[in-house]
Amino acid sequence: MPMNKNKIVIVGSGLGGLVCGYVLSKNGYDVTILEKNAQIGGCLQTFRRGGVKFDTGMHYIGSMLENQILHRFWNYLGLLDTVPLQQLDTEGYDVISLAGETFKFANGYERFADTLSQQFPNNRSDIETYLTRVREIADASPLYNLRKINNNIFIEADYIKTSINDFIASSTSNTKLQNVLAGNLPLYAGVKDKTPTYVHALIHNFYIQSAFRIIGGSDTIAHSLAKSIEKFGGKVRTNAEVEKFLCDETHATGVRLTTGEVVEADYFVSNVHPHATLSKIDSHIIRKAYRERVSNLENTISNFTVYIKFKENATPYLNYNYYFYELPDVWKSNDYDIGKWPQSYLFMHQCHQKDPVYAQSAELIGYMHFDEVRRWEGTRVGHRGQEYLDFKEQKADKLLESLEQSFPGIRSCIESYYTSSPLTYSDYTATHEGSMYGIIRDKNFPSQTYVSQRTKIPNLFMTGQNINSHGILGVTIGGIITCAEFLGINKIIQEIYDNI
Ligand SMILES: Cc1cc2nc3c(=O)[nH]c(=O)nc-3n(C[C@H](O)[C@H](O)[C@H](O)COP(=O)(O)OP(=O)(O)OC[C@H]3O[C@@H](n4cnc5c(N)ncnc54)[C@H](O)[C@@H]3O)c2cc1C
Repeated sequence: MPMNKNKIVIVGSGLGGLVCGYVLSKNGYDVTILEKNAQIGGCLQTFRRGGVKFDTGMHYIGSMLENQILHRFWNYLGLLDTVPLQQLDTEGYDVISLAGETFKFANGYERFADTLSQQFPNNRSDIETYLTRVREIADASPLYNLRKINNNIFIEADYIKTSINDFIASSTSNTKLQNVLAGNLPLYAGVKDKTPTYVHALIHNFYIQSAFRIIGGSDTIAHSLAKSIEKFGGKVRTNAEVEKFLCDETHATGVRLTTGEVVEADYFVSNVHPHATLSKIDSHIIRKAYRERVSNLENTISNFTVYIKFKENATPYLNYNYYFYELPDVWKSNDYDIGKWPQSYLFMHQCHQKDPVYAQSAELIGYMHFDEVRRWEGTRVGHRGQEYLDFKEQKADKLLESLEQSFPGIRSCIESYYTSSPLTYSDYTATHEGSMYGIIRDKNFPSQTYVSQRTKIPNLFMTGQNINSHGILGVTIGGIITCAEFLGINKIIQEIYDNI
């Protein structure tokens, strides 16, 4: 591929930045990725404690069997041979614990219906209707099926303008079943009467196909993409924090790093949260109304996580994810009562080797609003004071106490544990208030809560979880949408088909 003269600077090496870097450098653009942290990857970063590696924001992925959608993207992105995977239990990759009862999500539409209808024998046809509609939504979306696109419609309007809860309620009147079907809602931090149907349907469909953990940590995805980008002639620089986008009267001309270094380019892609991106642009080209609209958009909730290292050979490896709800109404978990926290959590073992018998580590994640840690805003990692450490200790203890009720004896298997709060995420990924998945899409205000990959500055684009959607598939597709500004969408789709 001949080197294209155009130089592109990508700010941020999260999945979105890396996917754009891969596609554009593969197509001959001169790509430089600037990452503020010492480690690349954003949410794909891992950290080590007590000899164990912990993931921070990528725990399981879906649709990775041959010809399934992520498998096809990974084939194109050169990730199939470089990122080892462990398939989750096909009979129950997710287990939903709802008010004392457990329910399994099995892989494959038929098996999903068979498994769930054992506990809902009178609702089999409701479950089938729900699955058919989920499938229809996923099938209707061209980018989720790698179909050529002749217009700009990526998702049908009907699925943008209805809420998940209304959608599920229209499939079944059984409220317990409604709550079970919404049971993996922490995957997108859904909000009742707000989150559009397509968010749920695309994600649920993605995991129903197949579900996998990444063996040895999600940073392998970032490292593999960075290695390919360098092979294509691009650069990935760490400890390179961008503090300003520099503009002339009509265009962006460069970025200034906190060190004072200026990096010039023809085009710019920001993988940084739109709110943070706009705060780095002084230009009059960005109008006040746009700036205010984007800055005032609500973000998804953050989380408090306990990273657990187990004693050796102490607890059998669980090949499924465990979603716990103390109450029968899963939608209450977003608006939790601090005094009763945690009334919901997600518990996942990490996979450190192929077919593990015992678990080496796990993560226990509870929703947490940024307001709970706001008083420590502006403090630095490791320097937040004793009160913050006590706060984290108290929260970890509550989460572990709740976990013990579902898994009696589990606390005695723990060798050590570590914690992160919304402040940790806000510091490490610069996502607004540590939000897990960025801007909340709202079915009541679909166009106002949509952020385009285009900005008012003609040579500055955005990518990442706020464009299209979050997660491994949402961000990959968002990256393709951003790169389409340079290459055209159908050329990229064709490349994926041809795997060139
Ligand atoms: C707790 C948690 C669990 C998750 N679990 C899953 C899961 O199991 N499966 C799944 O599919 N998805 C999961 N996700 C979602 C997924 O990780 C994200 O949607 C995705 O990784 C976000 O990628 P991104 O490119 O938008 O940006 P990010 O990962 O947020 O990366 C942005 C990058 O920009 C850098 N940056 C910021 N400011 C600057 C600056 N000024 N200069 C230079 N660089 C800068 C940051 O350091 C960071 O590296 C999870 C997310 C969270 C938070």
